[in-house]
Amino acid sequence: MEKDLSHILNHLGEDRELYFNSVSPPLMQSSNFHFPTVADMRAAWPREFDAPLYSRGVNPTVSILRKKLAALEGAEDALVFSSGSGAIAAAVMSQVKAGDHLICVQKPYSWTGKLIENTLSQYGITYSMVDGTALSAIEEAICANTKLILLESPLSMTFELQDLRGVAAIAQKRGITTIVDNSYSTPLYQRPLEMGIDLVIHSASKYLNGHSDLVAGVIAGPKHLVRSIMKTEFMTFGACIAPNDAWLILRGLRTLPVRMERISKNGVAIAQFLNDHPRVERVSYPMSPSHQQHALALRQMTGAGGLMGLWLKAETIQEVERFCDALTRFLIAVSWGGHESLIWPVCAWYEDEQNGSSHYPWNLIRVSIGLEDSEALVEDLSQALDSM
Ligand SMILES: *Cc1c(COP(=O)(O)O)cnc(C)c1O
Repeated sequence: MEKDLSHILNHLGEDRELYFNSVSPPLMQSSNFHFPTVADMRAAWPREFDAPLYSRGVNPTVSILRKKLAALEGAEDALVFSSGSGAIAAAVMSQVKAGDHLICVQKPYSWTGKLIENTLSQYGITYSMVDGTALSAIEEAICANTKLILLESPLSMTFELQDLRGVAAIAQKRGITTIVDNSYSTPLYQRPLEMGIDLVIHSASKYLNGHSDLVAGVIAGPKHLVRSIMKTEFMTFGACIAPNDAWLILRGLRTLPVRMERISKNGVAIAQFLNDHPRVERVSYPMSPSHQQHALALRQMTGAGGLMGLWLKAETIQEVERFCDALTRFLIAVSWGGHESLIWPVCAWYEDEQNGSSHYPWNLIRVSIGLEDSEALVEDLSQALDSM
């Protein structure tokens, strides 16, 4: 019963008799929690990481969310952060120190790359950015001082996968920790811990919350790792989530399965439409048979979200811009995972075809499909492709 999805989303972690049998959980908008006597306060210190004392550590609204997120990932415990990047920084820094080496998949989420290349490199941590489609490339990059392999599968701009079971097996033999950013798949469509990965990370700003109204992050994993991160990086960096945002994620989670069902159905339909269109050079979507790692996708994912890469057949940036500006049902914006369909055109980072500040090509557009009617979206894409 504990593992049943409906039970997790509707009941797990909610002690309704403690708060007037209210169906919706209380928003504990409080920074601190008082004690009736000095003796009570003294007795509370050893339980600082378990019971409410100060909301940077434990807050009752956040605790309900932690229990649900851990159960969703099949993890013993979870922590919730004020952003996905905050969660990634805490998880990565918990596993490496000066003199260590880490391996990260090439082209990760931009601020994950910057954490490694710009920040950690200042503290004596060396790294290799490796092509994640080849298991052998990851294995060959391992050095005597490699402590961590950081993955993101599928990648959130170009959607190549890494073989999670394969990487976990290589790492376990050598005592190397593995972390995967699972934001794209959600715990519904990919279960990294069951494949031997040590820690899972999410940007909860995306599908977990699902309404484009907050920024948050998650770490889920075994009790000993999560507790160690809580006592050090979580408490010292202080990237804790506001109780109000945790409450909103609890509300967002109630509909996670129906949202994902709709988004994934839409995603498949849109990817197929785009794949067949003469103005499209390439679509990268793990659940399309045309994806170069489709077989691996079927082995380690049970579905895909609505995020995909679209490479237009275009001679000039102006053609790409005409396509983007002609869309009426898609907003031009970063981020993804909400109710609304979005496009993020890489050409917005280019002055012209030769001069860009992005290492992605200017004809690439990241498309995020939302909850809208898929026929309306196809119609809109179709007229925009015609107007290029
Ligand atoms: C958005 C995103 C992040 C960062 O999360 P924030 O909540 O924006 O800090 C990390 N990984 C992936 C794959 C993302 O899309």
